[in-house]
Amino acid sequence: MRFCSLGSGSRGNATLVDTGGYRILVDNGFSLRELLRRLERVGVAPATIDCLLLTHEHADHVKGVASFVRRHDVEVWTTPGTWRAAGAPDVPRLRLLSGPGQTLELDGVRVSSYPVPHDAREPCQFVFESGGHRLGMLTDCGRVTPHIQQFLSDCDALILEFNHDSQSLQRGPYPLSLQRRISGGFGHLSNRQAGDFLDRLSWGALQHLVVAHVSEANNHPDLVLDTIRSVSTTLAEQAVLWEQDAPSPWCAFASGTQRAHGPAALVEPSSSPG
Ligand SMILES: [Zn+2]
Ligand SMILES: [Zn+2]
Repeated sequence: MRFCSLGSGSRGNATLVDTGGYRILVDNGFSLRELLRRLERVGVAPATIDCLLLTHEHADHVKGVASFVRRHDVEVWTTPGTWRAAGAPDVPRLRLLSGPGQTLELDGVRVSSYPVPHDAREPCQFVFESGGHRLGMLTDCGRVTPHIQQFLSDCDALILEFNHDSQSLQRGPYPLSLQRRISGGFGHLSNRQAGDFLDRLSWGALQHLVVAHVSEANNHPDLVLDTIRSVSTTLAEQAVLWEQDAPSPWCAFASGTQRAHGPAALVEPSSSPG
């Protein structure tokens, strides 16, 4: 299993998970043209994407979904609430989850959805299991619940939102109502919240930490790193930050490191999209 970002942040999100035999795109907050441009940069032909999973209906996650799946006849999986709130566009192959919490078996990949507190209709996030590895995603989440903590406790790779620094948000350009929405229990994780979550996590098995959905207006990579460093210097050295304007390098699990046989290890990103 390997994974990468096509872009991460409030202006558009899309994540690729590739098991070798099966390719999953999570969300598409980019126009069709921009998505195709970014896919080309990570070396993925759009026709090779097998399915698209949606976390929730906010524009930075669904803006380009309908145009992409119509053009390339891709299966879409999402919750009924997310699909309705996204305007229920007519697409060729819609598959509705029974709700956040359903687990799918997709051609050798186990995809577990789980609910998150976020100001959307029926939002969820995902954990992917394949080849003995477990990759967890957590972005667009107002607070970490005990259920989330438990659900993500056994991952060997974690994509985690460090959305804002609370002081930067208070001093920043956003109106008070938007500040309250972002910092509220159904908004986004602050650096401190994400750091506290990591601190409580049994992250000894965590070989790869990805910093995602970082606010350009209300955060800075140095502040994120300071937060992670306060939890563990080892984790801070491992952490990779996903950017808004460019795809990330691929992250791949080294072969022979399945968790059933001992702690996982990840190789360094195998290629750079430039
Ligand atoms: Zn978002
Ligand atoms: Zn959102």
